[in-house]
Amino acid sequence: MRDVATATLFLSDLHLTPERPGAAESFRFFLAQRAPTAAALYILGDLFEAWVGDDDLALPFHAGIAADLKRVAHHGVPVHLLPGNRDFLAGPDLARAAGLTLMEDPTCIHLYGTPTLLAHGDAWCTDDAQYQAFRAQAREADWRAGFLGKPLPERHAIATALRERSEQAKAGKRPEIMDVNPEAVAEAFRAHAVSRIIHGHTHRPAFHSRIIDGRSCERWVLPDWYEATGGYLACDASGCRMETWPPGNGG
Ligand code: MN
Repeated sequence: MRDVATATLFLSDLHLTPERPGAAESFRFFLAQRAPTAAALYILGDLFEAWVGDDDLALPFHAGIAADLKRVAHHGVPVHLLPGNRDFLAGPDLARAAGLTLMEDPTCIHLYGTPTLLAHGDAWCTDDAQYQAFRAQAREADWRAGFLGKPLPERHAIATALRERSEQAKAGKRPEIMDVNPEAVAEAFRAHAVSRIIHGHTHRPAFHSRIIDGRSCERWVLPDWYEATGGYLACDASGCRMETWPPGNGG
């Protein structure tokens, strides 16, 4: 029998926004019911639809999610956030408010004895040169300081415009361009000497298994939470399995 209390849970791409109340409610239910039984909780990016700086906590919706996360931490469950492309500006104030630890992208952890690389996944979408150019720029200290120096409403407006532009650009790109590049992933397995990778971003939940340099390697891609039914990966000493939330919704 599996003891749910010992599982470490991974989720990503919640894209929480007041505009999708069903998804937010489902996540809050997860935080109240499922997360407190976990050994640890890892959120691998895009917790929020947009996070333009930690003063975004001023939005009651954001502060409410942070408070719900902190309740999980109060249960003694370590909560980690590895920021994604939507919330890469998550900083120490959010970490404090939500009782979580921020992680670098990527980060290697020892998961019940298996070296496992955690990432958002966008860094491996190397076929999308346009996106990678933006990603590189957004990681520069000067760009960040300049952006964070703008008033909050202006930053929201810029983020909205960027999202709209990205949606338009996506419509004109071949689907494979928006997926991870197999060679970039193989290189990550090699460079970090891991046999397991867990990531999100592509919204293409799957389990991939392949042999790299004679080693058996597994890659778990996490589902998004756009709809009221989300999902997460639960790992323990016996391995990992994908679970849906709320339970019993199939999918
Ligand atoms: Mn993403």
